[in-house]
Amino acid sequence: MNFSDSEIVASILSEIHYQPTRDLDEADLILINTCSIREKAEETARKRLSAFQAVKKKKPELLIGVLGCMAERLKTRFLEEEKLVDLVVGPDAYRDLPSLLEVVEEGEKGINVFLSKEETYADISPLRLGSNGVTAFISIMRGCDNMCSFCVVPFTRGRERSRDAFSIVAEAASLYDQGFREVTLLGQNVDSYKWANPETGDVVSFARLLEMTALVHPKLRVRFSTSHPKDITDEVLHTIAAYPNICNYIHLPVQSGNSRILEMMNRTYDRDWYMGRIEAIRRIIPECAVSSDIITGFCSETEAEHQDTLSMVQYADYCMSYMFAYSERPGTLAARKYPDDVPEEVKKRRLQEVIQLQTQVSFRHNQRDIGKVVEVLVEGNSKRSDADFCGRNSQNKMVVFPKKPGIQPGDYVQVHILDATSATLLGQIAEPSKI
Ligand code: SAH
Ligand code: SF4
Repeated sequence: MNFSDSEIVASILSEIHYQPTRDLDEADLILINTCSIREKAEETARKRLSAFQAVKKKKPELLIGVLGCMAERLKTRFLEEEKLVDLVVGPDAYRDLPSLLEVVEEGEKGINVFLSKEETYADISPLRLGSNGVTAFISIMRGCDNMCSFCVVPFTRGRERSRDAFSIVAEAASLYDQGFREVTLLGQNVDSYKWANPETGDVVSFARLLEMTALVHPKLRVRFSTSHPKDITDEVLHTIAAYPNICNYIHLPVQSGNSRILEMMNRTYDRDWYMGRIEAIRRIIPECAVSSDIITGFCSETEAEHQDTLSMVQYADYCMSYMFAYSERPGTLAARKYPDDVPEEVKKRRLQEVIQLQTQVSFRHNQRDIGKVVEVLVEGNSKRSDADFCGRNSQNKMVVFPKKPGIQPGDYVQVHILDATSATLLGQIAEPSKI
């Protein structure tokens, strides 16, 4: 999400002749795009801001700004109390950056944290930063209207709004023409995507948007994130099953495996409902891999309730999960209603238990792929060796295999899986793909 925002910002700034650089000493403007989801993310951003202060001491004309979620939360502190930055720009105010920069150049502080009900940056063509030229993100909606009690997103990123479906499809088509072969449609809750064509009144649902994007080209893979268990429909599942270029992979965060905790989290589904969705995925898309987000040690969580989360990891057979210890965020429903009463060491221990189990489940999941031939979209050199390529299969698993002459990033190849760890599949090219 944040990465996609940075690409929008880079595009807006390129209009006023700023270019991205990897060289800190060369920079005239440093913008740090921030996240407030967990306290740790905020601490990291704060540390980097302090480090940039040292650079600014040597080069006083350097401008430093904060973008994104922390902007909204900590605007006055950053600008006035700690004087860490010249510029604070919230997630819906990026178009205002050029005029804010003018204000700052005149020696004033630049601030705009206004949250919009309409802004989707639909017409802005993001500048692809650090791109591999093969995979790209497309933001399809902004904000969130759910009120999960632990979550700060509705406060920092505002109301949910869906972007013009045709602008999304046009962006996907343009990426394909530039050589990209995979797009990931991004939103906090993609299943509630809903765009009404102002001319015809026709409503485009997420299932329809997926289909429209899949039809851009059979060689353009389509992924999406994040699905919400309360909203993912069978229609979406049938659409995934119907189009070979829509990947067989769903990120379906459970957060907790216990119904009482889910209710306190205000997730609006319970354990049985979630299991029913997993069943539907298995029935409609048998090859589909599912991943999750999990929070341990939410307010008042008991050992038995924590065990329910562990058993859910087994039941859902996640290929992988993002796992976090609960971190109370100021202003959220949980912060106002429930004491953060699970001791830190208990949260951490439960987190370790979930991580350990997930590693075993991922390993088992990947071991089942040994002997299979899977289609992989080549992304580039593997991290460990320039003699190997890496890329993902439809299930979003990273596959590493020796290079072969004539094969390059952006190609589809069939890879015979010979070995697997909990994180990676290892194999050998079987034959060039026919698709
Ligand atoms: N919209 C997505 C999640 C976005 S935030 C969804 O509903 O699933 C990404 C993940 O961060 C969440 O799924 C959750 O697991 C984690 N997270 C959010 N707030 C948190 C908090 N206060 N403490 C710990 N983890 C949190
Ligand atoms: Fe946060 Fe819930 Fe919205 Fe996800 S769905 S962004 S967890 S409020």
